[in-house]
Amino acid sequence: MNTPPTLAPESSTPIAQACSALHAAYAKGWITHRDGNISVSDAAGDGFWISQSGVIKAQLNVAQMLHVPADRLVPGRAITAPAGASGEFALHQLLQALLPAGFNTVLHLHPTHIVAAMFANWDLRELSEQFPEVTRYTRVGRNVPPLAATSEELARACAASFAPPQSDMPHIVGLDRHGCVAIGHSPFDAFEHVERLEHVCQMVLASGARHTTTAQTVASGIKAAQAIQTA
Ligand SMILES: [Zn+2]
Repeated sequence: MNTPPTLAPESSTPIAQACSALHAAYAKGWITHRDGNISVSDAAGDGFWISQSGVIKAQLNVAQMLHVPADRLVPGRAITAPAGASGEFALHQLLQALLPAGFNTVLHLHPTHIVAAMFANWDLRELSEQFPEVTRYTRVGRNVPPLAATSEELARACAASFAPPQSDMPHIVGLDRHGCVAIGHSPFDAFEHVERLEHVCQMVLASGARHTTTAQTVASGIKAAQAIQTA
C-alpha cells in the first residue's frame, strides 16, 4: 500500500514544492515512478524550471530540475527540448507562455480515474459541472483528444484547450488515453486541481453511470485536434 504523501511546507520554494508534488502524486498512484513532469516559472522572470526526463519522479529532487532561460525560448514556437529535459518539454513551453499573472506551475500527471472517465467517453468539463466541490474552485477545460505522448501535436492541442476563445482559462484539462495537465499559483495549487477532478471522476465511475456517446479513436482524435487548431 502506498504511504501517505508528505507535502513540503507552504513556505518552501516553488522548486521544492514541485518535487514534493510529484512525490505526493506517486504516493496517490497517479503516476508510475518515472512518469509525470512539472515546470515552474523562474521567480526572477528568466524562463522556467522543468523536471528532467527519465529520473525517478517519486524521488524527484531540486538538483533534477533544469533551468531553461528565457533567451532559449521563442514565443508561440515549440523549440527543441534542451538536453535532459522532460519529454513533454513542448507542452510545458507552450503552456508556461500562456500562464496568467500570478500563476507559475504546469503539472502533468496520469491519474487513474481521470483517464478512466475519459476512456468511458466523459467530457471532463461536462462531468465536473455536476459537482460544486469542483466548480467552486476549479475550472475544467474540454478534453484533449488522443494524441501521441511527447508530440508537438499534443502540446498544441493542449495549449488550445487552455486558451478557449471568449471564456476564462481552465485550471485543468484531461488528455484522452493519457492523463491531465493542471496549472496553478504554486505546485500545490495545481496538485489540488488534479485532486478535485480525480475525486469526482472516481465517484462517477463508482456510480456505474455510463456516457452514451461513441468513443474517440486515435484517428478521430487527430481530426478533432486539427479542427481545434484551425478554429
Ligand atoms: Zn504523460
